[in-house]
Amino acid sequence: MAHLLIVEDDDLLRDGLTDLLRQDGHTVDNCADGLVAQTWLSEHAVDAVLLDLGLPKLDGMSLLTWIRQRFESLPVMILTARDSVDDRVEGLVAGADDYLTKPFDNAELTARVQALLRRARLPAVQADKRSTTDAAPGLEIDPTIPRAWINGQATDLTQREWELLRLLYQRLNQVVSRDDVAAAWQSESAEPTASNALEVYIHRLRRKLNGSGLNIRNVRGLGYMLEPA
Ligand code: CA
Repeated sequence: MAHLLIVEDDDLLRDGLTDLLRQDGHTVDNCADGLVAQTWLSEHAVDAVLLDLGLPKLDGMSLLTWIRQRFESLPVMILTARDSVDDRVEGLVAGADDYLTKPFDNAELTARVQALLRRARLPAVQADKRSTTDAAPGLEIDPTIPRAWINGQATDLTQREWELLRLLYQRLNQVVSRDDVAAAWQSESAEPTASNALEVYIHRLRRKLNGSGLNIRNVRGLGYMLEPA
């Protein structure tokens, strides 16, 4: 399993999360304020961080910015009672990989931690390689936030569109199955996955990819493939 750091100032919640994730097989350390977490992270390596936003001494958003400057690809999930869209967007822009709004269901938390770790193990779309893929010159994907550039034009994507497009792009000219997409989407388990949801997202991405020189082909019975148009 993985080595996790929980940064949370609420004693009950911190202890509960620690026990829960240890029961799930992870090695778990925790800190009760942002400054202690910063020092701890300077001295230890972890696989992922669960980060509360409202923290004493150094707030979670500042710690997240600091983490991103030092550990570009360290997965971070924000835990926050603040459920406004602004906080979530700010967190994602600052480099969080996922967020969970308190209170949350224990099963959802453990599933999303697993999804976070699984995605971190997928090959990353490297920033310096984004525009040099000869087979897909019209598409660049932001590796940190839901955004892509289509023919150099910035295009906002929903979290799901972005995860789907990244998956297709990582496997350019190869078939991506429905099961592959379901695994990549597990981070958003709060949103029900209707049986035709994938078709809806494929349709939206096809429209957004218009003019990019790329097309998403339906490979009957197998899945979808991103390929040069
Ligand atoms: Ca707090």
